[in-house]
Amino acid sequence: MAAALPGAAEMVVHSDDTLVAAPTGPQELPLMVLSGVSKIYGEGDIAVHALRSVDFTLERGDYLAIIGSSGSGKSTLMNIIGCLDQPTHGSYLLDGIDVGFLDDFELSYIRNRQIGLVFQSFNLIPRTTVLRNVELRLIYARVPKGERRRRALAAIAAVGLGDRGTHIPSELSGGQQQRAAIARAIATEPAIILADEPTGNLDTASTFDVMDIFHRLNSEGRTIVMITHEHEVAAHAKRVIQVADGRIVADMRQAPVDGPPPRPGSASPDHLQVAHA
Ligand code: ADP
Ligand code: MG
Repeated sequence: MAAALPGAAEMVVHSDDTLVAAPTGPQELPLMVLSGVSKIYGEGDIAVHALRSVDFTLERGDYLAIIGSSGSGKSTLMNIIGCLDQPTHGSYLLDGIDVGFLDDFELSYIRNRQIGLVFQSFNLIPRTTVLRNVELRLIYARVPKGERRRRALAAIAAVGLGDRGTHIPSELSGGQQQRAAIARAIATEPAIILADEPTGNLDTASTFDVMDIFHRLNSEGRTIVMITHEHEVAAHAKRVIQVADGRIVADMRQAPVDGPPPRPGSASPDHLQVAHA
């Protein structure tokens, strides 16, 4: 635990009583800064303008939901902020680093160290146990062998699957598979969790399980970016942006960045689907 020392705002006291300089420089910048980001797939007559000069800033510790109809550019935006894809035009600063200047090796380094990804269809490796799925992720992230088992078991326990580590995905419910995928995403202890429609294939009860986990991860200081079609799910985020035709058309703050995310009450399933504009 770190506490601010009164009268010396630039210093921080750590729990072991050592006094260190508080993070400065890039730490004071927003976590993500997108400037004039465009993404064009294809060329000429078949060119698709998936993002159109997007300017966007995200603070450390925020919990963002991205909503918008199918084809509006949500996944394209997430792929760019997750360093899975590069903008056609414009710049993206992650942690003060212009990722447009990084090569594939450096991009994969950032993905492995900083970012945990969660997808609608879980993307677990079939016929492979939950424990192995999580450990494989740690191998890619070059976590030393001795550390892998400990971290994998801790991540699996953290999502409430402590008794399911030896099961393969087909032996689990959809909600359990998504929790396993979240365990895989958090095992590397990333500062950022990116989730593309994480509850899109889940029933209401499993959706709330996943929202509970995201609530906890954000309360622990992780930044979360989550795409969703469901207003009910977006209600759990601190901030909501709406994307339409490759542009951000609305930006709503639902809770302060420094503080817990909102805890919306349960609503009837009638309200779960956002109207596709
Ligand atoms: P969303 O996630 O909001 O449904 P996407 O970001 O996936 O939207 O897609 C935005 C637009 O870009 C759509 O018109 C889609 O068809 C197009 N698109 C997405 N990925 C590709 C691709 N790899 N090649 C060509 N067009 C693409
Ligand atoms: Mg999508």
